[in-house]
Amino acid sequence: MNKPIPQADRVRQLGVETAFLVAAKAAAHAAAGNKVYPFHLGDLNLPTPENITAATLRAIQAGKTGYTANAGLAELRDALAEEINRSRGTAYSRDNVAIQPGGKPVIGKFLLALMNPGDEVLYPNPGFPIYESQINFHGGVAIPYGIKAGENNFSFDLEVMEAAINERTRLLIVNDLHNPTSAECSADDRRRIAELAVRHNLLVLLDEAYYDIRFEGESASLISEPGMAERSVILYTFSKRFAMTGWRLGAALGPREVIDTIIKLNVNDESCTAHFVQYGGLEALTGEQSGALALIEVLQARRDRAVDLLNSIEGISCYRPQASFYLFPDVTEAMANSGCDTYQQFLEAVLEHTGVSLCTRSHFGTPLPDEERRYLRLAFSGIDLHLIEEGLQRLKVYLER
Ligand code: PMP
Repeated sequence: MNKPIPQADRVRQLGVETAFLVAAKAAAHAAAGNKVYPFHLGDLNLPTPENITAATLRAIQAGKTGYTANAGLAELRDALAEEINRSRGTAYSRDNVAIQPGGKPVIGKFLLALMNPGDEVLYPNPGFPIYESQINFHGGVAIPYGIKAGENNFSFDLEVMEAAINERTRLLIVNDLHNPTSAECSADDRRRIAELAVRHNLLVLLDEAYYDIRFEGESASLISEPGMAERSVILYTFSKRFAMTGWRLGAALGPREVIDTIIKLNVNDESCTAHFVQYGGLEALTGEQSGALALIEVLQARRDRAVDLLNSIEGISCYRPQASFYLFPDVTEAMANSGCDTYQQFLEAVLEHTGVSLCTRSHFGTPLPDEERRYLRLAFSGIDLHLIEEGLQRLKVYLER
């Protein structure tokens, strides 16, 4: 046998998205001939709107197949600046926009541009696991803040956030409309976070991946608070809003000097985002919106059914979030009743006996010391209504047996 290839020390710091591991288990269960109800991945099983696909095909046929500028197509940067100015009251121009192959690359590039080794970075936990992975990978110190259960939804624990700030804290990551909990800032929360950021001179990543996945009310952004536009980078993505996860199209928006650095990182990484895909993005922002609106209607019907069914199960309680496509039900009692001690046992038993495939709180960061309640995470973006009904009905029968 050959000796193992010695790999660079730094890759030991890389984390993974363990939701993808849940997907692998679900696929194995399905391959063995079982029916699987996929509530685990934050992908959509809905097609990209027709007009976006058509515009992209036209672009390919018109030869839009070479490199673009490293920052992306000027027309797309203009359209995105206009979109964010309209929805969030900013005053961006194309110089404030760097197109990316997805929203995810903005996380690493934000840290590379602004974080020195040893800098402390506040990030949400539970939260999108890539924050912690990238902070560690690039030599920062990841400091978690949690979420709190409220009357109608989760919110961010601003006491913990504030108490964690010290002279080494340099960056703050906020994912308002939060994966995995759908937590949302109130107007007062936004004001308080902005005050903290300004007072402590923090640079802020606003991950707004779910800003436009909204069923009731209106989304508002921290970028609109005083002092925030000067210190924040917005992570924008076409993935969720236009059902374009596999197209890989997103952007970083922020102060020009930071965006210039991110463009330099583009030069060193991917050179540019796929040329014709950017034309799809342009059509998504400036063309017919009926496809994107129809998507919201489908998701809303799924949300309502899933929430009602979950709340009908003994020992489970679930909020009805007004935005994003994740449910984070409290299953403390249901888990205790099931006789399972660990999330792993519970997931395996549920998959084995019902075919329902889920994530748990443990897939979104190491649980914090004072956490007592147990939570699952269900995405309703990748599963049709009738399968939501069938799967959760099976879960109910199994847990109430
Ligand atoms: N941020 C959050 C909170 C997410 O949940 C995701 C996708 N699951 C992303 C960023 C990245 O999405 P994409 O790279 O597809 O734009």
